[in-house]
Amino acid sequence: MLIYDLDFSALENKLKEWNEPAYRAKQIWQGLYVHLYSSPEQFTNLSKPLREKMAEHFSFSNFKIRTFLDSSDKSTRKTLFELPDGNLIETVLMRYGDPADDPAGLTSKYTNEIGSSKKRRTLCISTQAGCAMGCVFCATGQMGFKRNLSSGEIVAQVIYYAQMLKEKNETVTNVVFMGMGEPFHNYDNSMAAIDRLNDSNGFNFGARRFTVSTVGLVPQIKKFADEQRQVNLAISLHAADDDERTEIMPVNKKYKIDEVIQACKYYIEKTNRRVTFEWALINGVNDTPEVAGKLASRLKGLLCHVNAIPLNPTQGYDGEATSRERANQFKETLEKAGIPCTIRMRRGIDINAGCGQLAGSQTKNPR
Ligand code: SAH
Ligand code: SF4
Repeated sequence: MLIYDLDFSALENKLKEWNEPAYRAKQIWQGLYVHLYSSPEQFTNLSKPLREKMAEHFSFSNFKIRTFLDSSDKSTRKTLFELPDGNLIETVLMRYGDPADDPAGLTSKYTNEIGSSKKRRTLCISTQAGCAMGCVFCATGQMGFKRNLSSGEIVAQVIYYAQMLKEKNETVTNVVFMGMGEPFHNYDNSMAAIDRLNDSNGFNFGARRFTVSTVGLVPQIKKFADEQRQVNLAISLHAADDDERTEIMPVNKKYKIDEVIQACKYYIEKTNRRVTFEWALINGVNDTPEVAGKLASRLKGLLCHVNAIPLNPTQGYDGEATSRERANQFKETLEKAGIPCTIRMRRGIDINAGCGQLAGSQTKNPR
């Protein structure tokens, strides 16, 4: 069993079962999440037999590193992990300077400030192998659904990079659930991973430094709101008209734009937190001033922000990225109507860092 699959009380129970004193659970938890030990031998404060028992019962990583790639400017590292059943998932580290108004750390205009004292280390993590939602522009969607990741497999992606950064005296500053998969389609494991990493006796990663991005699953948005989590919420909207959205995002057949926006209103009322709408700008499809105007009227009065990014072209979809001019025009139209908008530039384009792109290419051409 992957050790990161245990929450603290499960670890306590395990140690009770082994007739170990209760404080051992705390020692192991701290070893895992404070000292970031990656093997039982490192737990020198435990007895040798206990370390051996840990090694026998738990694995500290069930990933094989299939490959990793650094972008040419070294700001982005993407790792492709192979799970024990052969499924592939991706986790991306993005290094930023000090964006002032970008809680998720997604803006790249500060890339040149790498090395400044206020560095951001944003991890983009996966929650599923593949995805069942079938958004046509998305490499993960094109791959179909393979399986949910366990909470420990989600946690382990963060720990892997945290261990790597620790060697350079750096830490992960933000975690975004924007890798492969739909976090709200694997709700319990995604939330359990957040809780485990949030634990103040362990990894102690602040709730506000997580961002969960969803395709817009309405019941889960409401549940998330009811739980009053301090985690940031992003909604992938990409169209302002139901027919147009259904064409690129089949989930829209089930949950129409109005319903999604109503659920966001509910979330804002419950949490008083700003919602981010994600928008992949596709040339001639959803980047026109008319579409921007329609979007602005839909979002009017909502405590929100639009994060627009030129489409990352994928093999399975003909759409092209919008031009910089059109992107700026889109932003201006929204902002004139009172909707704040950020244009993010694509990162790691030379390493297939778009969601699911590397795993997709490896699945088709296994090495
Ligand atoms: N399933 C979740 C989170 C993972 S996708 C969701 O859809 O929100 C993370 C973000 O990448 C989403 O906003 C998604 O719409 C966007 N995305 C997917 N494929 C893309 C592409 N080819 N170009 C730009 N953005 C893309
Ligand atoms: Fe799944 Fe998100 Fe990709 Fe849609 S955009 S297919 S929900 S991963």
